[in-house]
Amino acid sequence: MEKILVLNSGSSTLKCQLFTMYDDYCEVIAKGLAERIGLSDSRITITFKDHPPVIRHLPLPDHEVVLKEVLDILQHTVLHDISELSAVGHRLGHGGEFFNRSVIIDEQVMQKINDTMELLPLHGAAFVHGINAITHLLPKISQVAVFDTAFHQTMPKEAYLYSLPSEQYEKHRIRRYGFHGTSHRYVSEMAADILGFNGRFISCHLGNGASVTAIRDGQSVDTSMGFTPAAGIMMGTRCGDIDPYIPLYIMKHQNKTADEVNAMMNKESGLFGASGGFSDVRDLEKRCLQGDSKAITAVDMYVYNIIKYIGAYAAVLDGIDALIFTAGIGENSSFIRKKICDRLGYLGIKLDENANHRRGERAVVSTPDSPVKVLVIPTNEEYIIARDTYDLIANRRRKKSFRVA
Ligand code: ADP
Repeated sequence: MEKILVLNSGSSTLKCQLFTMYDDYCEVIAKGLAERIGLSDSRITITFKDHPPVIRHLPLPDHEVVLKEVLDILQHTVLHDISELSAVGHRLGHGGEFFNRSVIIDEQVMQKINDTMELLPLHGAAFVHGINAITHLLPKISQVAVFDTAFHQTMPKEAYLYSLPSEQYEKHRIRRYGFHGTSHRYVSEMAADILGFNGRFISCHLGNGASVTAIRDGQSVDTSMGFTPAAGIMMGTRCGDIDPYIPLYIMKHQNKTADEVNAMMNKESGLFGASGGFSDVRDLEKRCLQGDSKAITAVDMYVYNIIKYIGAYAAVLDGIDALIFTAGIGENSSFIRKKICDRLGYLGIKLDENANHRRGERAVVSTPDSPVKVLVIPTNEEYIIARDTYDLIANRRRKKSFRVA
């Protein structure tokens, strides 16, 4: 049995989960969130499986102060001593081409991580702050890095290269990396468990950020996000694929800076931009039912974007065996799932409308005679991080019967 702390460090938030891991079983004993790091009114909230929640309002100038506080709370609640912690697993947003799997962090790895974070200029620093803070607070503990991009390192060249001059890839590392890899990996493993085989899967991770991945026999062969997470399908506030000349045109003709256009494409576009200010699908569903024409258009665009990718990936995979929905919208919105599946009858998808009303739980939502299965699988990236960390530190392979509490 090992106690593993999983960390997801963002620029102004830090999420954590404490797992107890056994060979064939695991459970989450604490879940925490630090908000407004480096800002006013910051706070830490930790909830527990067997203990009342702890909420502390205090200044949180940086990640090290946050983690010191988190460790203190854990020591006063579910851990007798901090030495009970076996390891810390970190979510890292980018592994470049260096990392095609999770690794134990040592000096060499850390150098490559620092190098790779240059590819994530806006968010890269926060991931490194999380690792550095743990190194400082718990210098002897093993740390493991789990990369959002690693699962997509199996993509073939024709899928990951852009049609730019080849030196853009060779010298500047500009290529499709893909993101949400830990989530696509988790749901494809779960789908294989449910179906009893590993085949041609298309996985739709539809949250605020969203991506679609083509998976063959457990390996990513193409994915909609690219060099950055702004590419691919339309998202909550990100534009997804647009004509590459548009940002240049806006800068030239509307006198906007690169930063302004970047903010527009990432924070003011997608469902939010198209609907006139609504990025949450719950609001959009309501507005569609009330006949709001902009909301209807935004949802139509969203569904159209997704079915285009599914069609493209069905071609890439020579047909599909299963379509998987995950993340906030994929897990909860029967409305969006139905709109997507209604356009995919030609692929052999038959949605079971009753089953589709289930929300937020693992379910097969296609009819028993549907040639292609449709699965809803709540994602669990933290579990993969805990499991990889456990496997790496214990140097043992996961048993087939592993289950989540
Ligand atoms: P991220 O992790 O990318 O921030 P999530 O995976 O948490 O995003 O997804 C958040 C989105 O999920 C919300 O913006 C909302 O659109 C959608 N969502 C959450 N709950 C529901 C629900 N019950 N019905 C429909 N959509 C939902």
